Amino acid sequence: MRLVLVGPPGAGKGTQAQFISAHLGVPKISTGDIFRANVSQGTDLGQEAKKYMDAGELVPDPVILGIMKDALSTPAAAKGAILDGVVRTVPQAEGLAKLADELGRKIDKVVLFDVPDDEIIRRISGRTVCDKCQTPYMGREPGTTCAKCGGKLVRRPDDEPEAVKTRLNAYRAQTEPVIQWARDHDLDVIEIDATGDIDLITKRAMRALEP
Ligand code: AMP
Repeated sequence: MRLVLVGPPGAGKGTQAQFISAHLGVPKISTGDIFRANVSQGTDLGQEAKKYMDAGELVPDPVILGIMKDALSTPAAAKGAILDGVVRTVPQAEGLAKLADELGRKIDKVVLFDVPDDEIIRRISGRTVCDKCQTPYMGREPGTTCAKCGGKLVRRPDDEPEAVKTRLNAYRAQTEPVIQWARDHDLDVIEIDATGDIDLITKRAMRALEP
């Protein structure tokens, strides 16, 4: 199954992508995770991406298209993939469609996670993330230990209020048009109510993904 997950920052895409990936047995690909791993390893890609990420801006399309190509061409992704936040602009969507064509693959569904802005702000202000394995946590203080890998929980620089505002604006201006683009190209767009408990959201997502 090949899924493209779309939603505003703080919609819980990353968390749900982990569940969906485990449930379907296909890898999750997250450009945000790839960038954070590169930032912590100090690579050239990490240094370039960090400038945009810390400000809450989108990394330029050509960089994303390169990563998309590498990530989707791996043997692990041949059976399917959950693309978490990988497509955030119409040119990226066009790039993905072209790449899928070249690789002889199909995008099964575009999954949109719906959350109102006030809920996003509330969630992001309570969020920390493991600096090693990237697992996100709610209501756990920075400096505490990741239950999964023993790494340290940190606050993402782009979760600071000014950056969150910029990310929300980027979402409305650049990412929301991807939904219309997908509908115009006859892709199957499903909307999930991403408010409420994490478990409840997972259930809604699983139900919506049933054949
Ligand atoms: P995320 O963890 O998915 O919220 O991504 C963190 C940051 O990485 C975003 O705020 C962007 O700066 C950058 N980023 C991740 N994926 C993309 C993408 N597909 N297009 C542009 N920027 C991206």
